[in-house]
Amino acid sequence: MAARPPPERFSGSFQAGRPVLSLVLPRQLQRVAQRALHRLFHTRSCLFVVLHVALQAAVFGEYTCEVFGYCWELQFPLLLLLLPYLLLAANLGCFLLCSRADPGTVTKSNAASLAEVYAYDGVLFQRGLVCPTCAVQKPARSKHCSVCRACVHRFDHHCVWVNNCIGARNAGAFLLYLLSLAATAGALAAVSAALLAQLLLLSNALHGSYRDGQGQEHPVDIPLLVQHLFLNFPRIVFMLGFVILLTLVLGGYCTFSLYLALTNQTTNEWCKSRRLGGSPPLPSQPQARPLVYRNIYSKGIWRNLKEIFNPPTVLERKKKT
Ligand SMILES: [Zn+2]
Ligand SMILES: [Zn+2]
Repeated sequence: MAARPPPERFSGSFQAGRPVLSLVLPRQLQRVAQRALHRLFHTRSCLFVVLHVALQAAVFGEYTCEVFGYCWELQFPLLLLLLPYLLLAANLGCFLLCSRADPGTVTKSNAASLAEVYAYDGVLFQRGLVCPTCAVQKPARSKHCSVCRACVHRFDHHCVWVNNCIGARNAGAFLLYLLSLAATAGALAAVSAALLAQLLLLSNALHGSYRDGQGQEHPVDIPLLVQHLFLNFPRIVFMLGFVILLTLVLGGYCTFSLYLALTNQTTNEWCKSRRLGGSPPLPSQPQARPLVYRNIYSKGIWRNLKEIFNPPTVLERKKKT
Protein backbone atom coordinates (compact mmCIF):
# COMPACT_ATOMS: atom_id res chain seq x y z
CA MET A 1 0.00 0.00 0.00
CA ALA A 2 1.36 3.43 -0.95
CA ALA A 3 2.27 5.71 1.95
CA ARG A 4 -0.07 8.65 2.46
CA PRO A 5 1.50 11.92 1.29
CA PRO A 6 1.96 14.56 3.98
CA PRO A 7 -0.79 17.18 4.23
CA GLU A 8 -0.33 19.79 1.54
CA ARG A 9 -1.57 22.81 3.43
CA PHE A 10 -0.33 24.00 6.77
CA SER A 11 -1.21 27.07 8.75
CA GLY A 12 0.94 30.21 8.58
CA SER A 13 2.38 29.64 12.04
CA PHE A 14 3.33 26.07 11.20
CA GLN A 15 4.89 27.12 7.89
CA ALA A 16 7.05 29.53 9.87
CA GLY A 17 8.40 26.62 11.92
CA ARG A 18 9.42 24.53 8.90
CA PRO A 19 12.94 26.03 8.49
CA VAL A 20 13.64 25.14 12.14
CA LEU A 21 12.55 21.53 11.53
CA SER A 22 14.72 21.32 8.39
CA LEU A 23 17.75 22.38 10.42
CA VAL A 24 17.40 19.84 13.21
CA LEU A 25 15.71 16.83 11.57
CA PRO A 26 16.50 14.67 8.52
CA ARG A 27 13.95 14.82 5.67
CA GLN A 28 11.99 11.67 6.58
CA LEU A 29 11.68 12.72 10.21
CA GLN A 30 10.60 16.21 9.13
CA ARG A 31 7.60 14.68 7.36
CA VAL A 32 6.70 12.63 10.43
CA ALA A 33 7.02 15.72 12.64
CA GLN A 34 4.93 17.78 10.19
CA ARG A 35 2.19 15.15 10.18
CA ALA A 36 2.26 14.89 13.99
CA LEU A 37 2.05 18.68 14.42
CA HIS A 38 -0.71 18.89 11.81
CA ARG A 39 -2.72 16.20 13.62
CA LEU A 40 -2.12 17.95 16.95
CA PHE A 41 -3.22 21.43 15.93
CA HIS A 42 -5.48 20.83 12.92
CA THR A 43 -7.70 17.96 14.00
CA ARG A 44 -9.96 17.71 17.03
CA SER A 45 -7.98 16.01 19.78
CA CYS A 46 -8.46 15.51 23.51
CA LEU A 47 -4.72 15.82 24.18
CA PHE A 48 -4.83 19.41 25.46
CA VAL A 49 -7.98 18.69 27.48
CA VAL A 50 -6.16 15.78 29.19
CA LEU A 51 -3.12 18.02 29.80
CA HIS A 52 -5.41 20.75 31.19
CA VAL A 53 -7.09 18.29 33.62
CA ALA A 54 -3.71 16.75 34.61
CA LEU A 55 -2.26 20.20 35.46
CA GLN A 56 -5.33 21.12 37.51
CA ALA A 57 -5.18 17.74 39.32
CA ALA A 58 -1.44 18.21 40.08
CA VAL A 59 -1.90 21.77 41.41
CA PHE A 60 -5.00 20.93 43.49
CA GLY A 61 -3.36 17.70 44.72
CA GLU A 62 -0.46 19.75 46.11
CA TYR A 63 -2.82 22.39 47.51
CA THR A 64 -4.96 19.78 49.28
CA CYS A 65 -2.10 17.62 50.58
CA GLU A 66 0.24 20.33 51.87
CA VAL A 67 -0.99 23.93 51.70
CA PHE A 68 -4.48 23.27 53.07
CA GLY A 69 -3.10 21.22 56.01
CA TYR A 70 -0.50 23.85 57.05
CA CYS A 71 -3.04 26.68 56.66
CA TRP A 72 -5.59 24.79 58.73
CA GLU A 73 -3.02 24.34 61.53
CA LEU A 74 -2.21 28.05 61.34
CA GLN A 75 -5.95 28.85 61.63
CA PHE A 76 -6.44 30.55 58.28
CA PRO A 77 -10.16 31.42 57.68
CA LEU A 78 -12.00 28.37 56.32
CA LEU A 79 -13.77 30.38 53.59
CA LEU A 80 -10.39 31.56 52.25
CA LEU A 81 -9.13 27.96 52.14
CA LEU A 82 -12.29 26.78 50.35
CA LEU A 83 -12.28 29.64 47.83
CA PRO A 84 -9.99 27.84 45.30
CA TYR A 85 -12.33 24.80 45.36
CA LEU A 86 -15.42 26.97 44.78
CA LEU A 87 -13.69 28.72 41.87
CA LEU A 88 -12.57 25.35 40.49
CA ALA A 89 -16.17 24.09 40.55
CA ALA A 90 -17.33 27.21 38.68
CA ASN A 91 -14.45 26.81 36.21
CA LEU A 92 -15.30 23.15 35.52
CA GLY A 93 -18.96 24.12 34.93
CA CYS A 94 -17.91 26.80 32.40
CA PHE A 95 -15.46 24.37 30.80
CA LEU A 96 -18.23 21.80 30.24
CA LEU A 97 -20.58 24.48 28.85
CA CYS A 98 -17.86 25.67 26.51
CA SER A 99 -16.67 22.32 25.25
CA ARG A 100 -20.10 20.66 24.97
CA ALA A 101 -22.06 23.56 23.47
CA ASP A 102 -22.70 23.98 19.77
CA PRO A 103 -20.69 27.17 19.09
CA GLY A 104 -23.16 28.20 16.37
CA THR A 105 -22.60 25.81 13.47
CA VAL A 106 -23.88 27.20 10.19
CA THR A 107 -25.94 24.57 8.35
CA LYS A 108 -27.95 24.58 5.14
CA SER A 109 -31.15 24.97 7.16
CA ASN A 110 -30.06 27.97 9.29
CA ALA A 111 -27.61 29.76 6.93
CA ALA A 112 -30.24 32.05 5.40
CA SER A 113 -31.62 33.21 8.77
CA LEU A 114 -28.13 33.63 10.31
CA ALA A 115 -27.13 35.77 7.31
CA GLU A 116 -29.78 38.29 8.45
CA VAL A 117 -28.46 38.61 12.03
CA TYR A 118 -25.42 40.81 11.29
CA ALA A 119 -24.89 43.30 8.47
CA TYR A 120 -22.04 42.67 5.99
CA ASP A 121 -19.39 45.35 6.46
CA GLY A 122 -18.06 44.94 2.90
CA VAL A 123 -14.46 44.83 4.17
CA LEU A 124 -14.00 41.72 6.30
CA PHE A 125 -17.34 40.17 5.33
CA GLN A 126 -18.81 40.22 1.83
CA ARG A 127 -22.40 39.28 1.01
CA GLY A 128 -22.97 36.30 -1.30
CA LEU A 129 -19.87 34.25 -0.47
CA VAL A 130 -20.34 30.48 -0.21
CA CYS A 131 -18.08 28.24 1.87
CA PRO A 132 -16.42 25.83 -0.62
CA THR A 133 -16.25 23.07 2.02
CA CYS A 134 -19.68 23.30 3.65
CA ALA A 135 -21.44 24.67 0.54
CA VAL A 136 -23.46 27.13 2.66
CA GLN A 137 -23.88 30.87 2.33
CA LYS A 138 -21.47 32.54 4.77
CA PRO A 139 -23.24 34.83 7.26
CA ALA A 140 -21.38 38.02 8.26
CA ARG A 141 -18.91 37.38 11.11
CA SER A 142 -18.79 33.63 10.39
CA LYS A 143 -15.69 31.66 9.42
CA HIS A 144 -14.95 28.11 8.40
CA CYS A 145 -13.00 26.20 11.07
CA SER A 146 -10.67 23.67 9.46
CA VAL A 147 -10.39 21.75 12.76
CA CYS A 148 -14.15 21.33 13.32
CA ARG A 149 -14.76 21.22 9.53
CA ALA A 150 -17.74 23.55 9.82
CA CYS A 151 -18.62 27.20 9.43
CA VAL A 152 -19.23 28.87 12.79
CA HIS A 153 -21.45 31.90 13.36
CA ARG A 154 -19.67 34.87 15.00
CA PHE A 155 -16.46 32.82 14.90
CA ASP A 156 -13.90 33.86 17.50
CA HIS A 157 -11.22 31.14 17.40
CA HIS A 158 -10.75 27.41 17.81
CA CYS A 159 -9.60 26.68 21.38
CA VAL A 160 -7.53 23.51 21.80
CA TRP A 161 -7.90 23.70 25.61
CA VAL A 162 -11.68 23.20 25.44
CA ASN A 163 -11.45 21.23 22.16
CA ASN A 164 -14.17 23.32 20.54
CA CYS A 165 -14.73 26.43 18.49
CA ILE A 166 -15.67 29.62 20.30
CA GLY A 167 -18.61 31.20 18.49
CA ALA A 168 -21.89 33.05 19.01
CA ARG A 169 -23.39 30.44 21.34
CA ASN A 170 -20.51 29.75 23.71
CA ALA A 171 -18.57 33.05 23.75
CA GLY A 172 -20.15 34.02 27.10
CA ALA A 173 -19.29 30.66 28.69
CA PHE A 174 -15.72 31.00 27.35
CA LEU A 175 -15.31 34.46 28.90
CA LEU A 176 -16.54 33.13 32.27
CA TYR A 177 -14.26 30.10 31.86
CA LEU A 178 -11.24 32.38 31.38
CA LEU A 179 -12.18 34.67 34.28
CA SER A 180 -12.80 31.74 36.65
CA LEU A 181 -9.52 30.08 35.61
CA ALA A 182 -7.55 33.28 36.25
CA ALA A 183 -9.38 33.76 39.58
CA THR A 184 -8.62 30.15 40.59
CA ALA A 185 -4.91 30.60 39.84
CA GLY A 186 -4.95 33.97 41.65
CA ALA A 187 -6.65 32.50 44.75
CA LEU A 188 -4.17 29.58 44.89
CA ALA A 189 -1.26 32.03 44.55
CA ALA A 190 -2.65 34.32 47.29
CA VAL A 191 -3.23 31.50 49.82
CA SER A 192 0.15 29.84 49.12
CA ALA A 193 2.03 33.17 49.33
CA ALA A 194 0.23 34.04 52.59
CA LEU A 195 1.21 30.64 54.00
CA LEU A 196 4.90 31.03 53.10
CA ALA A 197 4.95 34.57 54.51
CA GLN A 198 3.39 33.29 57.75
CA LEU A 199 5.93 30.45 57.96
CA LEU A 200 8.79 32.94 57.52
CA LEU A 201 7.39 35.15 60.26
CA LEU A 202 6.97 32.21 62.62
CA SER A 203 10.48 30.88 61.96
CA ASN A 204 11.93 34.35 62.67
CA ALA A 205 14.05 33.91 59.52
CA LEU A 206 13.39 37.55 58.52
CA HIS A 207 15.52 38.80 61.39
CA GLY A 208 18.30 36.23 60.96
CA SER A 209 21.80 36.75 59.59
CA TYR A 210 24.49 34.70 57.85
CA ARG A 211 28.28 34.72 57.56
CA ASP A 212 29.96 34.88 54.16
CA GLY A 213 33.25 33.15 53.15
CA GLN A 214 35.33 35.87 54.86
CA GLY A 215 33.41 35.42 58.12
CA GLN A 216 31.52 38.74 57.80
CA GLU A 217 27.93 38.80 59.11
CA HIS A 218 25.06 39.96 56.80
CA PRO A 219 21.28 40.26 57.35
CA VAL A 220 19.27 37.75 55.29
CA ASP A 221 18.12 39.02 51.89
CA ILE A 222 15.25 37.97 49.60
CA PRO A 223 17.22 35.42 47.48
CA LEU A 224 18.35 33.71 50.68
CA LEU A 225 14.78 33.61 52.02
CA VAL A 226 13.53 32.10 48.74
CA GLN A 227 16.33 29.53 48.90
CA HIS A 228 15.41 28.76 52.52
CA LEU A 229 11.75 28.26 51.57
CA PHE A 230 12.65 26.15 48.53
CA LEU A 231 14.83 23.84 50.62
CA ASN A 232 12.11 23.37 53.25
CA PHE A 233 8.93 23.48 51.12
CA PRO A 234 10.07 22.71 47.55
CA ARG A 235 6.70 21.59 46.17
CA ILE A 236 4.81 24.60 47.58
CA VAL A 237 7.40 27.06 46.19
CA PHE A 238 7.32 25.34 42.79
CA MET A 239 3.51 25.40 42.74
CA LEU A 240 3.48 29.07 43.79
CA GLY A 241 5.85 29.99 40.93
CA PHE A 242 3.63 28.12 38.46
CA VAL A 243 0.35 29.68 39.64
CA ILE A 244 1.87 33.19 39.72
CA LEU A 245 2.99 32.75 36.11
CA LEU A 246 -0.43 31.38 35.19
CA THR A 247 -2.20 34.30 36.91
CA LEU A 248 -0.12 36.82 34.94
CA VAL A 249 -0.63 35.06 31.58
CA LEU A 250 -4.35 34.46 32.14
CA GLY A 251 -4.82 37.96 33.57
CA GLY A 252 -3.38 39.40 30.34
CA TYR A 253 -5.54 37.17 28.17
CA CYS A 254 -8.67 37.96 30.23
CA THR A 255 -8.02 41.69 29.80
CA PHE A 256 -7.71 41.23 26.03
CA SER A 257 -10.88 39.08 25.90
CA LEU A 258 -12.81 41.63 27.96
CA TYR A 259 -11.64 44.40 25.63
CA LEU A 260 -12.92 42.38 22.64
CA ALA A 261 -16.24 41.70 24.40
CA LEU A 262 -16.75 45.35 25.37
CA THR A 263 -15.99 46.56 21.83
CA ASN A 264 -17.99 43.74 20.15
CA GLN A 265 -15.09 42.28 18.19
CA THR A 266 -14.05 38.67 17.76
CA THR A 267 -10.41 37.52 17.85
CA ASN A 268 -10.78 36.65 14.15
CA GLU A 269 -11.96 40.18 13.31
CA TRP A 270 -9.30 41.82 15.50
CA CYS A 271 -6.51 39.83 13.77
CA LYS A 272 -7.89 40.45 10.28
CA SER A 273 -8.37 44.18 10.90
CA ARG A 274 -4.75 44.46 12.16
CA ARG A 275 -3.48 42.75 9.00
CA LEU A 276 -5.69 44.97 6.85
CA GLY A 277 -4.96 48.25 8.67
CA GLY A 278 -4.22 50.90 6.04
CA SER A 279 -3.06 48.39 3.42
CA PRO A 280 -2.43 50.16 0.11
CA PRO A 281 -4.25 49.11 -3.08
CA LEU A 282 -2.68 46.29 -5.11
CA PRO A 283 -0.20 47.40 -7.87
CA SER A 284 -2.50 45.69 -10.41
CA GLN A 285 -5.41 47.89 -9.24
CA PRO A 286 -3.83 51.30 -8.48
CA GLN A 287 -7.19 53.05 -8.90
CA ALA A 288 -8.87 50.91 -6.21
CA ARG A 289 -9.54 52.63 -2.90
CA PRO A 290 -7.66 51.17 0.11
CA LEU A 291 -9.89 49.03 2.35
CA VAL A 292 -10.57 50.86 5.58
CA TYR A 293 -11.89 48.73 8.42
CA ARG A 294 -14.52 50.16 10.76
CA ASN A 295 -16.18 48.09 13.48
CA ILE A 296 -19.88 48.40 12.62
CA TYR A 297 -21.05 45.87 15.24
CA SER A 298 -20.37 47.88 18.41
CA LYS A 299 -23.53 49.15 20.14
CA GLY A 300 -22.04 50.55 23.34
CA ILE A 301 -20.22 48.83 26.20
CA TRP A 302 -23.26 47.49 28.07
CA ARG A 303 -25.12 46.15 25.01
CA ASN A 304 -21.90 44.65 23.65
CA LEU A 305 -21.37 42.75 26.89
CA LYS A 306 -25.01 41.62 26.93
CA GLU A 307 -24.64 40.30 23.39
CA ILE A 308 -21.84 37.92 24.46
CA PHE A 309 -24.24 36.15 26.84
CA ASN A 310 -27.39 36.57 24.78
CA PRO A 311 -26.53 36.38 21.06
CA PRO A 312 -28.99 38.28 18.84
CA THR A 313 -31.36 36.42 16.55
CA VAL A 314 -32.77 37.50 13.22
CA LEU A 315 -36.15 38.26 14.87
CA GLU A 316 -34.58 40.73 17.32
CA ARG A 317 -32.80 42.53 14.47
CA LYS A 318 -36.02 42.80 12.47
CA LYS A 319 -37.86 44.19 15.50
CA LYS A 320 -35.28 46.97 15.88
CA THR A 321 -35.34 47.98 12.19
ZN1 LIG B 1 -17.46 26.02 6.01
ZN1 LIG C 1 -13.21 24.65 15.52
